[in-house]
Amino acid sequence: MTRVVRVDDRVPREERRRALAEAGRRLRAGELVAFPTETVYGLGADATNPAAVRRIFAAKGRPADNPLIVHIEQVERLREVAATIPGPALELAGLFWPGPLTLVLPRRDTICPEVSAGLPTVAVRCPEHPVARELIAFADRPVAAPSANLSGRPSPTRAEHVLRDLGGRIPLLLDGGPCRVGVESTVLDLTSRPPVLLRPGGVTLEELRSVLGRVDLDPGVLGEPHSGPVRSPGMKYRHYAPAAPAWLVEGTPPAVARKVFQLVKEWAGAGERVGLLISEETAQQLGELLSADLPGGGGTLQVEVVGPRDHPEEYARRLFALLRRLDEAGASRILMEGVPPVGMGLAVANRLRRAAGHQVIKAEPGGAPE
Ligand code: AMP
Ligand code: MG
Repeated sequence: MTRVVRVDDRVPREERRRALAEAGRRLRAGELVAFPTETVYGLGADATNPAAVRRIFAAKGRPADNPLIVHIEQVERLREVAATIPGPALELAGLFWPGPLTLVLPRRDTICPEVSAGLPTVAVRCPEHPVARELIAFADRPVAAPSANLSGRPSPTRAEHVLRDLGGRIPLLLDGGPCRVGVESTVLDLTSRPPVLLRPGGVTLEELRSVLGRVDLDPGVLGEPHSGPVRSPGMKYRHYAPAAPAWLVEGTPPAVARKVFQLVKEWAGAGERVGLLISEETAQQLGELLSADLPGGGGTLQVEVVGPRDHPEEYARRLFALLRRLDEAGASRILMEGVPPVGMGLAVANRLRRAAGHQVIKAEPGGAPE
């Protein structure tokens, strides 16, 4: 049984404090606690306790070579986690912490090797969400926490997503309502020069470059997973993925609309139930095209409109919840519209590509004028 405890800001302060104090005690005792952060829900364990950390890998079905992020409550405690702290780390922490930025630094041996999957480094961040911060403060030690989903599934942005994936597998879930950012933190490797962006997220590449000057982009961010050694082991797995096979469709809204319409007709005719995740602009272009005479009728199609294309923040916030919804609606094939990889769009483009297992369809302009 998983106990769900509400800790959102409508819960009276004292009650919330008691719940978080108890959750902190449980973390100290080696138990797992799922909790909200501003990015996605995390599954926490004491990062200094190997048995507790191994429970995370078991509950998620996470491969043992995929390291975890350690969460601290204040910058001052970075020294308990990292063996050395380069100047840029302190500068970035000053600007972006608390917030969705994870720094990869040399690991201190207080953090057990299981956390880092044996790597000599550790990924660390200071989350902004008040529930996460109060929980870590009560635990009074660094908390290792990957996303609180079954390995490979879309990350959880609401407590009900956690319950669906991990219900019965973890003792306690703190329900703090929906997550504000919706995609995971940015992971920046500061152990190499120049620094390398391993995973785009809530802090943008543009923001990092404005502080650090040069920041390289790991080729895995938008490319195929490489077969050689990987710097961020998590990047090599199919991830964020709905159960149904998914394709990413890239192009302008009119071109995407035409391509999607053609594929939907073809697939619905072959008995597939097609799920769409598209922008407002493309939804408009598709218009009645879709509601009219589909083979098999409306039952063959489930459409989720994410938001306007030039608001990648909204795409980010809703992406994982909508992918889960398409799964639950029984989609057998999913088409997802891409976004330009700029600003938060880079994080969205990365998650979409990996949810699609890198199956990309280019929608070429043509036919009617655009
Ligand atoms: P998750 O916590 O599920 O969002 O995944 C954590 C991400 O951080 C994965 O992509 C990991 O590969 C990455 N990560 C964690 N620790 C390290 C590390 N020491 N070096 C490089 N990447 C890391
Ligand atoms: Mg994850």
